[in-house]
Amino acid sequence: MKYPLTFEPIELGHVTLPNRVIMGSMHTGLEEIDQTGERIAAFYAARALGGCALIVTGGVAPNEEGSTGIPSKPDSYGRLDSPRSLAIHQRVTQAVHDEGGRILLQILHTGRYSYAPGSVAPSAIQAPISAHVPRELTGADITRTIHDFAKCAQRAQEGGYDGVEIMGSEGYLINQFIAQRTNHRTDEWGGAYENRIRFPVEIVRQTREMVGPDFIIMFRLSMIDLVEGGSDWEEVVELAKALEEAGATVLNTGIGWHEARVPTIAQATPRQAWSWVTRRMMGEVSIPLITSNRFNAPDQVEEALRDGHADMVSMARPFLADADFMNKALDGDEAAINTCIACNQACLDHIFSMKTCSCLVNPRACNETRFATTPSDKPQRIAVVGAGPAGMSFASEAAERGHQVVLFDAEKKIGGQLNIARNVPGKTEFDETVRYFGNRLERTGVEIRLGIRVGLPDLEAGFDQVVLATGIEPRDLDIPGADHPKVCSYIDILTGRVVAGKRVAVIGAGGIGFDTSEFLLAAPGHDHAHVPSFMRKWGVNPGWGQGEGGLRGGLAEAPAPDAPFRDITLLQRKTTPLGAGLGKTTGWIHRAEMKLGKVRMLGGVQYQKVDDAGLHVTVNGQSEVLDVDTVVVCAGQLPRRDLLEGLQARGVPAHLIGGADVASELDAKRAIQQGLTLAESLSNPQAQACA
Ligand code: FAD
Ligand code: NAP
Ligand code: SF4
Repeated sequence: MKYPLTFEPIELGHVTLPNRVIMGSMHTGLEEIDQTGERIAAFYAARALGGCALIVTGGVAPNEEGSTGIPSKPDSYGRLDSPRSLAIHQRVTQAVHDEGGRILLQILHTGRYSYAPGSVAPSAIQAPISAHVPRELTGADITRTIHDFAKCAQRAQEGGYDGVEIMGSEGYLINQFIAQRTNHRTDEWGGAYENRIRFPVEIVRQTREMVGPDFIIMFRLSMIDLVEGGSDWEEVVELAKALEEAGATVLNTGIGWHEARVPTIAQATPRQAWSWVTRRMMGEVSIPLITSNRFNAPDQVEEALRDGHADMVSMARPFLADADFMNKALDGDEAAINTCIACNQACLDHIFSMKTCSCLVNPRACNETRFATTPSDKPQRIAVVGAGPAGMSFASEAAERGHQVVLFDAEKKIGGQLNIARNVPGKTEFDETVRYFGNRLERTGVEIRLGIRVGLPDLEAGFDQVVLATGIEPRDLDIPGADHPKVCSYIDILTGRVVAGKRVAVIGAGGIGFDTSEFLLAAPGHDHAHVPSFMRKWGVNPGWGQGEGGLRGGLAEAPAPDAPFRDITLLQRKTTPLGAGLGKTTGWIHRAEMKLGKVRMLGGVQYQKVDDAGLHVTVNGQSEVLDVDTVVVCAGQLPRRDLLEGLQARGVPAHLIGGADVASELDAKRAIQQGLTLAESLSNPQAQACA
């Protein structure tokens, strides 16, 4: 047993769990559309089958005004207020129990974070991330809302759940009552702290009364709000004790409100960056504590338990990336784990764009009923050119379906552009994706031929099909002086072939322009994973919970980032704000990184020429010479598909995937998904492409 503490059973109220890991709550977008429960049941059952001891569902509102405000189909899973929706929930809980798992329903009242205009809150104060001013709840509304929470828990019990998680963190309604920031009431629900916490304590007390002893009540407690006017540490401890007293079975950790300007789960956050917060609560209560945020590997879980940071660990996105995470950990087979890389690209970015959630590294997530690895009844010999994400995904999926696959790459290692991306601060997580695919290619029997730049003669004979996953060519700069020694491409910089001078102009402000700027801002040897530096940079008080100064909510007086290593100007031709097209939930972090790094951002630029004086530009009709040592070109890409025409001329069936297919707006999410979809359609032409 490699992870003895992780697999030590634990009693949670009336149940004994076989391990210490829970799957944290995630809204998947299926809640609003699944009117039978089939897809949600398949999603959760797969995680229970994969060894997850306890699942917490996405949030269900206790009443109409507490909903997210996302339009929902009638009687879909996201509701629990009709016999039909109850039957859907029963289907889901049954499916999880059939696989030996346990499941809690999360009760979430969004308060002022609702997308809908009719939102409510303790005080009529608009959130900086919301479009509407909420209505202030009356005293009678508050009494009713508490009852609605308890009633919802009772319905969850009827629906077969093993318990509920009451969502008291991330800045939702309960948090809004607790914090001075959002609660300006003068009645018995506002003012003194004991008044502000009456709402959560009453919810837990009345819920316990309603559901009896044999039902888990997990409370997600905001242990560090990371917003001005948030709670003090002593207040958080006081609340934890009151919740235990009121009947909570277990406390889960919430880190930061949604409106906080500190990254809490994205790639910018080092792994396991926040478990120290839960550790400071250890010993304050006698019920178990769960820690959370940026765990994605079994050794981290074991370490956190060993170091006394918590009694249990919550991971959410890692179970999107790999439903079998826990069984693989139990077998000590970490190499086979498909690791969540904290990119948010297919999960949170989808949810906040009102799309169904999935996973960049695992497009099967939330599509469990759509993809089957059915063996092909007509196995073929297939050549795959290019071992980037698209090629690796296709090759492993095709081999798993019985095809004989040869995977070529001109480089000496697999991974394609991920081997370049991994040099960007925070993106070393891509190493996990390359390791996962490497392992899977080996186990599925794919023949890998590296260091071969494939030409037509290599493909003409011996293959029934050819898949071109040859990726992209960076777009060159087309202005006088583009061949000046100052000019280089992002690939030169990120691979270390060129070391930039101290003053740099970055041409192109897409994802790669921002990534390259972040790379250039960091001093050589900078350790992105160093938690104290991260806290300093983003203005978190490291003495939080130890009586060492700082502001309410765990904030330091001011961020104290390291001095930028270079002087950077980031440019684009468009007049829209720079970085507007970056990820929905991560773009603000990259823009903040530029601000912390004092990067000059210029839009509406026309590039004139490069010469010894630097980069000549016109901005809003004004000429300017940027006196820089290096000009880095990040001007997008073009598809690399030089082999296609020759193959077509010779009648060899050829397919394009990834960047070779469409280079614009290409990302690893599309590349991996296209690999899976093509393998499925070649093996099973009836298969439906996933959404
Ligand atoms: P590639 O990864 O380009 O792979 C193509 C492969 O084909 C290469 O290995 C190449 O050597 C090989 N090849 C080409 N021609 C031949 C030939 N004739 N013979 C043999 N081999 C050949 N995406 C995200 O989703 N999220 C991110 O955060 C992200 N960050 C990025 C940061 C940087 C700095 C960069 C450069 C990219 C980033 N991307 C990101 C983009 C992502 O890496 C690409 O979208 C993805 O790699 C494209 O996959 P692909 O398989 O189509 O092509
Ligand atoms: P991109 O997002 O398309 O950005 C290209 C940039 O180059 C734009 O700023 C564009 O702005 C500029 N440009 C285009 N043509 C130009 C020309 N002829 N001359 C000068 N400038 C030109 O592409 P990218 O940044 O190379 O990224 C490639 C893909 O990788 C992206 O689609 C993205 O999905 C993926 N990626 C994702 C992430 C992530 O965090 N999710 C990170 C990195 C990369 P103007 O036209 O306004 O000048
Ligand atoms: Fe993790 Fe990215 Fe998948 Fe979300 S999309 S689960 S962050 S790997």
